[in-house]
Amino acid sequence: MSSRDPNRVLIFDTTLRDGEQSPGASMNLSEKLEIARTLEALGVDIIEAGFPIASPDDFAAVRAVAEQSTRARIAGLARSLKADIDRAADAVRPAGERGRIHVFLATSAIHRQFKLNKAKEEIVRQAGEAVAYARSLCPDIEFSCEDASRTEPDFLAEVVAAVIKAGAGTVNIPDTVGYAYPQDYANLIASLRAKVPGLGEAGGAVISVHCHNDLGLAVANSLAAVRAGARQVECTINGIGERAGNCALEEVVMAMRVRKDQFPGITTGVASDRMYGASRLVQSITGLPLQRNKAVVGDNAFAHESGIHQHGVIKNPECYEIMTPQSVGFPATTMVLGKHSGRAALQQRFEALGVSVAEADMGRLFDAFKGLADRKKEIYDGDLIALVEEVIRGNRATAWKLEYLHTSAGTGAVATATVRLSQGGEVRTDAATGDGPVDAVIATINRICAIEGTVEDYRLRAVTKGGDAQGEVSIRARLKAAGAAGEAVVVGGKGLSTDIVQASCHAYLDAVNRLGALAGGGKRIDHRE
Ligand code: MN
Repeated sequence: MSSRDPNRVLIFDTTLRDGEQSPGASMNLSEKLEIARTLEALGVDIIEAGFPIASPDDFAAVRAVAEQSTRARIAGLARSLKADIDRAADAVRPAGERGRIHVFLATSAIHRQFKLNKAKEEIVRQAGEAVAYARSLCPDIEFSCEDASRTEPDFLAEVVAAVIKAGAGTVNIPDTVGYAYPQDYANLIASLRAKVPGLGEAGGAVISVHCHNDLGLAVANSLAAVRAGARQVECTINGIGERAGNCALEEVVMAMRVRKDQFPGITTGVASDRMYGASRLVQSITGLPLQRNKAVVGDNAFAHESGIHQHGVIKNPECYEIMTPQSVGFPATTMVLGKHSGRAALQQRFEALGVSVAEADMGRLFDAFKGLADRKKEIYDGDLIALVEEVIRGNRATAWKLEYLHTSAGTGAVATATVRLSQGGEVRTDAATGDGPVDAVIATINRICAIEGTVEDYRLRAVTKGGDAQGEVSIRARLKAAGAAGEAVVVGGKGLSTDIVQASCHAYLDAVNRLGALAGGGKRIDHRE
């Protein structure tokens, strides 16, 4: 670590750990591997792949991400307990010297008193012992002082000094509850540097920040901390995460890049022109769509509506654009492919978009592309990204597949749906009525799959322009197997079609399939850091 570039801000992505803690955002193994591949291509420095002791699935996912990785450091989270640390060490071992154990312990008075019931001295001792033990198993240790921003600054410095002495190379000062204010947070980082010799200096431990967005300040707090000397930022794609989420990777990276005047000499390893593709992939896999006006990667981020703005942008984009759509990988809005395009052209276009497609998926992807090209004259980049997502999501072996769909609806008529689904070799057909065709389709799927379900949120988005545009439906549903004990779980689903009833059917079926994939995941240990 001693040869570290003092101006390089390390990007620590926790989409697979904190991001997965977004309600309803659980991902399966192949989805996590897909996101990890995309994160490495994006150029993040550290991927936090999960919390290995939380469940057997979490352990397997961290291990598989470590095995697959080629460049990024792979971190596994652990409480300051021997069993957690052993499990994390086993999970990250395939990454070799790129493995990292991320140990945490709460330090604030409220957590000490009500969660841990431990005195200050015990916290310092337990943190030091945990780091020393982790260090005996793995050369790269990060320690997090959970709820650091609400911890007494002098005590925080004492903990930080103790864990560095025990062997931590990175010390994280998280704003776990999203309470910090930028100037105060910067002052806290500066005060730690003043109290702990060498902290944040070349050759000393790296200061990391991990900010939550409860007051919408996660990015601002992270930026303030970088100016005060933090050199690792923990963030997630699209800012997903616990409650209001984490610092958004795309926003914090572009803020440092566009406002070079505020961050002189500061660099990251992120290939910003791959951000849009990464954002779309994470939206698709988690079923958490972005609002259109989301900074940097939202659909409207570069849309100029007023005539005065449009006129200015045509004369010179810099009139109203502080960065170009290309710089963050926004897809071109001009036609890129048509029905006569071949497989090589398709593959080339995916590469240009920074979308990694496994060779095994390419055949089905090309078939899907040909099918779309028959229904839709012009294919845009947005269509291609949506297609990849659809094909990747269809990869589940145990999934129900739609074989046939017919609906009838109209003014004064009772909406009815007939649906045929297959799973493995089994085919089932049923019919039901509803308030409208989508409601009828959902009622029919519930009957066929023996599901009790209600839709909590339904969104329809046109992927591209024009009357023949594909509709992308995102659903959040509360589901459980009919007659099953326990509470229903919130599951996201997404569907794509030029027919919106069919897209809705795919989306709901996707959620049902995700419920099936989640079943049997084992009990999870609650974790918050
Ligand atoms: Mn967190």
